[in-house]
Amino acid sequence: MEKALIKLENLSKYYTSGQNIVAGLQSIHLQLCRGEFVAITGESGSGKSTLSHVIGGILPYESGELFFNGKPTSHYDGQSWEQYRRDNIGFISQSYDILPGATVLGNVVTALRLSGMDKKSAIKNAEDILCQVDLWQLRHRRAAKLSSGQKQRLSIARALAKPAPILIADEPTGNLDPENSKKVIELLAEAAKTRLVILVTHEFSEAADCATRHIVLRDGQIVMDSVLRPSYHAEHSAPRRTATKVSMSLPIAWLQQRSRPVWSFLMVLLFSLTAFSVFAFLGTFIIAMDDTDTKIYDRSAFYNGSPTRIVLTTAEQRPLTNEDFEAILSTPYVISLEKNGYVTDMQYAYRDGIDYKTTYSEEVNEVTGLSSISFSYMTLATSPFLQTVPVLADGEFPLVDGDLPNGFYEVVAHESNGFSVGDTVTVLLMNNPFWGSYQFAEMEFTVVGITDYGEGLYFDDSIGRFAQQIAKISSKTSDFFVFVPENLAATEKYAESLIAAGHLAEGTSLYLTDEQFRCHPNQYARFGGDGTYVVMKKFPNINTELPLANANLQLLQSPDVIESLISRAVTIPNYAHSIGHTRIIEVSANTFDKLTWNTESEQVSLTIKDYAYTDRVLDSLRKEGYIAISPYQMGSTRVDHAKSQARMQTLGVCLGALLAVAALQIVLLRAMFSVETESYRLLKNIGLVSKTAKRSVLLQVLGFTVLGQAVGGVVIWICGFMGVNRIEELLKYLPTKYIVGLSAVHLVIALVATAWVVSALCKQIYPFVKISDDINLDAEEQEAAS
Ligand code: ADP
Ligand code: MG
Repeated sequence: MEKALIKLENLSKYYTSGQNIVAGLQSIHLQLCRGEFVAITGESGSGKSTLSHVIGGILPYESGELFFNGKPTSHYDGQSWEQYRRDNIGFISQSYDILPGATVLGNVVTALRLSGMDKKSAIKNAEDILCQVDLWQLRHRRAAKLSSGQKQRLSIARALAKPAPILIADEPTGNLDPENSKKVIELLAEAAKTRLVILVTHEFSEAADCATRHIVLRDGQIVMDSVLRPSYHAEHSAPRRTATKVSMSLPIAWLQQRSRPVWSFLMVLLFSLTAFSVFAFLGTFIIAMDDTDTKIYDRSAFYNGSPTRIVLTTAEQRPLTNEDFEAILSTPYVISLEKNGYVTDMQYAYRDGIDYKTTYSEEVNEVTGLSSISFSYMTLATSPFLQTVPVLADGEFPLVDGDLPNGFYEVVAHESNGFSVGDTVTVLLMNNPFWGSYQFAEMEFTVVGITDYGEGLYFDDSIGRFAQQIAKISSKTSDFFVFVPENLAATEKYAESLIAAGHLAEGTSLYLTDEQFRCHPNQYARFGGDGTYVVMKKFPNINTELPLANANLQLLQSPDVIESLISRAVTIPNYAHSIGHTRIIEVSANTFDKLTWNTESEQVSLTIKDYAYTDRVLDSLRKEGYIAISPYQMGSTRVDHAKSQARMQTLGVCLGALLAVAALQIVLLRAMFSVETESYRLLKNIGLVSKTAKRSVLLQVLGFTVLGQAVGGVVIWICGFMGVNRIEELLKYLPTKYIVGLSAVHLVIALVATAWVVSALCKQIYPFVKISDDINLDAEEQEAAS
């Protein structure tokens, strides 16, 4: 007799269901050889399936030994069993175990490829075998659409196609009519010529004509084992397996998806929903991390806290050059630059009746009968901040008429104001921090050009320097110098003494012509004047060495902010102000001439496209070596509790929503797996190893994620394009690297869920991995002990 292919020695198999332990097989002794066609019969529940599954390497056993080719298997781990099944077992079950979603050909080819055959030979073998079972005609039909007889023939074809020495059929004819049953048995008998065929049946009669041996089981024990006829001579041995290293993860993943197109479509849709949600919620969360807009702006440092304003200077406070301007303007999101950064901290009003109102009143003195007339200005709306003609990042400043200003008193007006070139416009300049509230200077400007850019009036750069001088004076000293024409001699003396002491720098003064810069009578009165209009001639700059500490720090509401600004070397326009200490000095034209303009700009104000880009702009400017701050960010110091609470709510909602998205994704993947469990079980029976199974799950998840993100991305893009506010905002606020990061978060959630799904897969479908690991450990311990 040929050497036993399979030998069972005192083998027992137990099932635990709840508290009970049921014996599936008890102390089985059995030897089976190639060429045998063994029919196993017995009552329902007698252990037939258990025996065939144990031999097939599908179920683990607890005690005794299963020898394959004379070698024991009790030490096998999950991987060894996988290999055992792949190389040695063809399995046919009552439930056919075919992949319903795959085609007839696909079923056979997949099985062959799982057993390590290359694609070409797999198709060749499949063709041969499908012809044998009369299914070649139906090769492109989906297996689900076959009749039961066809399904079973396919199942057999698949098992036969695989060059495995053992073919196990567990009640293959249970669902078939007699005619089909006969065909199946004939096919099995044919197979027994080259292999060991084990047929489990409850209808022995159908196999009586061809079986070589009959084993009867009862209660998990062999009660009869009789030889019916000599074994078939295994004259030509089964074809050798041509093991090639082919990865089946992708074909399996693809097969899983293709066999459930609607389900796959839904998964992609749901994944795009989760991708979109991660983008929306985590994105909102990230934006809400910036709490600037929940705070109240503190004007003590910068009066103009426009969110789109950036103030820039250099560490050494050097004059900025044209190259600097070019570099600054080429920074992404910067749209314009005003060369004198301080100018925008001043306000102006120019529309009588809109920005301000002039009121006159007349009082008649009852005694003298003389009348005195007084008038006052009242600002009506929040006045705009002063602006000079900006340098634009993309092109020239546009003019629809006239020219750009070329001197202190020339302005360009927006066309909506109704001015024409040559008109005179009266402007009230206000600088509340320096001059005190309700103090303003009235000046007349000539409109020299008309623009369609922005709004309001655009002043000459020199007015920026005017503001700069004031800022410099104010930031260095609490004195405020005004030049008046009276008593010129005394003033000049004082000024010269300042120059001699080094407090008044040459080359840094401000020139104002007569008549055009007039102080309000009240203001003059405070300076000690007589209440008539005063013509202020000159504003000198005091370039004093006085340390900053001498300034009126206590006037600042946020010393911390100031400290940080000082450390950044940004000159703070509103750093100190004290009208009370003001002294008035007059200088002659002679002295004035010594004090020439400082035409250089050391600090500029930029306008960026949107507050959303602030951090990115600051980063790039700082990388270029500049000192740059956002006054809005710096000055937003005091918490607005209502807004802050709303923000915390937003953060909470986003976090909650994110967790929900994560949970949803996990549930989805879990659902996907439970739908796929059955097909994985089938695939395992035809040789799918756990590693490939895991990888194919992973590939499916990656596919869902990538496709979902692509679909989500398109939706986001469309929303942004159509101007959905929230999405537009997110796209503006989140730099590309953040969006990539969000996709990564989405992917990570998916991968974590996958890890869980894969572990469930292994537990349910590959129980061997765990059980035999235990066995292995025991064996190793014994080895170590002996
Ligand atoms: P047959 O195929 O001959 O009908 P089985 O091999 O399926 O018999 O079952 C043998 C015994 O093992 C029966 O008592 C059955 O109840 C029990 N059994 C089979 N599968 C399980 C299982 N998964 N859990 C618990 N008991 C099982
Ligand atoms: Mg059974």
